[in-house]
Amino acid sequence: MQEKIDGFFEQQLYGWDLAGKNYAGLQKVHKRYVALDDEVSIGIQFNPERIYSSAAKVDDKSIRERKCFLCQENLPVQQRWLEFGEEYLILVNPFPIFPRHLTIPVKEHTDQRIAGRMGDMLDLACELDDFIVFYNGPKCGASAPDHFHFQAGNKGFMPLENDFEKFVKTVVDTINGVELLQLENYYRTCLVLEGADRDALVGSFNGLLDRFPVSPDEDEPMLNILVSRNADKWRIFVFPRKLHRPSQYFKEGEERILLSPASVDLGGVLITPREEDYNKLDARIIKDIFEQVTINPQP
Ligand SMILES: [Zn+2]
Repeated sequence: MQEKIDGFFEQQLYGWDLAGKNYAGLQKVHKRYVALDDEVSIGIQFNPERIYSSAAKVDDKSIRERKCFLCQENLPVQQRWLEFGEEYLILVNPFPIFPRHLTIPVKEHTDQRIAGRMGDMLDLACELDDFIVFYNGPKCGASAPDHFHFQAGNKGFMPLENDFEKFVKTVVDTINGVELLQLENYYRTCLVLEGADRDALVGSFNGLLDRFPVSPDEDEPMLNILVSRNADKWRIFVFPRKLHRPSQYFKEGEERILLSPASVDLGGVLITPREEDYNKLDARIIKDIFEQVTINPQP
């Protein structure tokens, strides 16, 4: 599969103008790091092309009035796909954050809901072993909350991967025989399930999902989820959320920061489409934003 993906990327960067231009542009994107303390460091990427995603209108009316960009019949003529199983398409994301960035929608136009799909997510992480697979909840950064999709980005990009190795992890519970770990002093709540038994992990994730609060007008708890496969084990990283966008997002003038946190931001690379925000973000603001959007549910 991984070889197929490499060839697929080559074909799309050559054969699809928009993708070719935006992946070339990514090499010129600015990135810097902010230390939150001696241990925790956060990357910031200034990526103007991401304005479409960061500022995406995801209210019901706006969603109803636009053509769905993940439905097969609406894909640009130069866009190709690979199939994953019966249900999924693998697409090159034309507005990349990662040097290799995939969008993985289902073929059917159906809502963004993680229930019943963790097994698929683990299978994808297994097949795409150069990638981390991630899921943004409908109110947690997904720009198509009406069409189910995962994304995947190449490994070695987000600090989360190394942080997991290096940070102190507390066992907070055991669910379905799998230990639930939490990263200590991480400034955002990061829960991790790790294991080699696919079915046990799926059961454990489902048990965890049931414990989070769901607001009355929503169908699932607010979450960002990342899955990686390392050696013979999977790691499921779960960031429980309480807020879609931080207060700074809605301010005006100087105080505004156009940052709409999703999986990659919580994985340790903040994506800012505006240069003024890229320059302004510091440790104090980053800690404040993390505190506003994630919760500690004390499971
Ligand atoms: Zn659709």
